[in-house]
Amino acid sequence: MTPSPQPQPVVIVGAGPAGASLAMLLVERGVPVTLVEAARDFQRQFRGEGLMPSGLAALESMGCGPLLARLPQRPLSAWSFQLHGQQLFRVEEPLEGDRPCTLISQPALLDALLERASRAGGFQWKPGVAVADLIESGGRITGVVLSDGSRLGACLVVGSDGRSSLLRQRSGLELERQSSPIDLLWFRLPSHPRFEDDNAFTMLLGDDGSACSVFHGALPGELQLGWVLNPGERIERSPEAWGETFAALAPGWLADHLRQVGPVISAPLKLSVQVGCCRRWQRPGLLLLGDAAHPMSPIRAQGINMALRDAIVATNHLLAPLLAGDTAAIDDSLKRIEAERMPEIRRAQALQQQEARQAQWLRRSPLLRLVLVQLAPWLGGRIGQSWRQRQIPLRQGLAPVQLTV
Ligand SMILES: Cc1cc2nc3c(=O)[nH]c(=O)nc-3n(C[C@H](O)[C@H](O)[C@H](O)COP(=O)(O)OP(=O)(O)OC[C@H]3O[C@@H](n4cnc5c(N)ncnc54)[C@H](O)[C@@H]3O)c2cc1C
Repeated sequence: MTPSPQPQPVVIVGAGPAGASLAMLLVERGVPVTLVEAARDFQRQFRGEGLMPSGLAALESMGCGPLLARLPQRPLSAWSFQLHGQQLFRVEEPLEGDRPCTLISQPALLDALLERASRAGGFQWKPGVAVADLIESGGRITGVVLSDGSRLGACLVVGSDGRSSLLRQRSGLELERQSSPIDLLWFRLPSHPRFEDDNAFTMLLGDDGSACSVFHGALPGELQLGWVLNPGERIERSPEAWGETFAALAPGWLADHLRQVGPVISAPLKLSVQVGCCRRWQRPGLLLLGDAAHPMSPIRAQGINMALRDAIVATNHLLAPLLAGDTAAIDDSLKRIEAERMPEIRRAQALQQQEARQAQWLRRSPLLRLVLVQLAPWLGGRIGQSWRQRQIPLRQGLAPVQLTV
């Protein structure tokens, strides 16, 4: 008797938050999954850490509550905006409800999701190999070609390969780009005791319009600092000169610290910000998820949260047709995933753009900054209240998302 053919797995490309969480949800529900990841491990690349209440709730609904509690993490205590070394306003965390925005080590989170996935049968993990192309047959995507030339057949390919997605380029699913007024230089530096006790996300804006944010990251003893660049701008400085540059924006105690740790500030990592949304996220046999479908701005930490919510909605719609091995039903469910997720993503990106435009006015207008510095003692509280109100929808998610299968 000839053995019956093995069911084709789902091939997920990219083990960021979207790909790793979707792989875990599907294998735990009996769907065979091969997860292909270009990086050998998660430590080498920069990975954002900020999780909003919507992302924490998404992880809890995936049953990751106990796992989360074991990961390196640090909650934010507040958001503090400083103009010319003087506080404009400060808003305490949590802004609403009982969950503060929390920095969670993303390498540790991804390792934990993979560890859980690998406990279920039917999971294949392929790190250190990139996908180089798609395989198409009869108008349907039927697999991928890996960089070593080998081929993987699939009943569905999920492109969760991030903001520069190769699968998006190869599939012809077009990205509508939005202008992004910033790039970032990312630094790591030793912490200061004040951040250990009071981890305020501190935005510093100087009198020449230069800006950076600084906060204690998820790992012990480490501050993270993002320096705002205009797109295409290049700056090269010694670590000591960077220490001086940051200090010029900071209030006294922080300026002293930044000068002191100058010599050991890490070499910066340049992070190009890309923002946009594909008009279509799917074609027969292929679904784009997370940044591959909708690259998110880092403003107010949305991308990880949205990627996790994408994975939940995808699992809800895909599970039954994948278990039935019904390709027509799989392709239909891809359209429903896109239709359910698109409105939240468009709205979140519009709110991020609004926030980016306001920051841009402030950076470009010395007069506006001067007026705000003068009025800060009287108007700071009101400006803080209005800022707080604008953040709440972005933190809770803009549509109901529940794991239902
Ligand atoms: C500077 C900066 C800071 C940010 N900070 C935050 C934050 O604090 N909080 C937040 O919520 N969001 C943040 N974001 C956004 C967030 O990082 C992304 O939205 C989120 O990581 C998207 O998750 P993803 O799984 O879709 O893609 P990614 O996390 O980008 O993962 C994609 C994965 O695919 C792999 N890959 C790529 N190409 C291939 C290939 N051809 N074959 C195989 N594998 C491949 C990559 O190695 C990567 O592991 C930030 C973004 C930037 C630029």
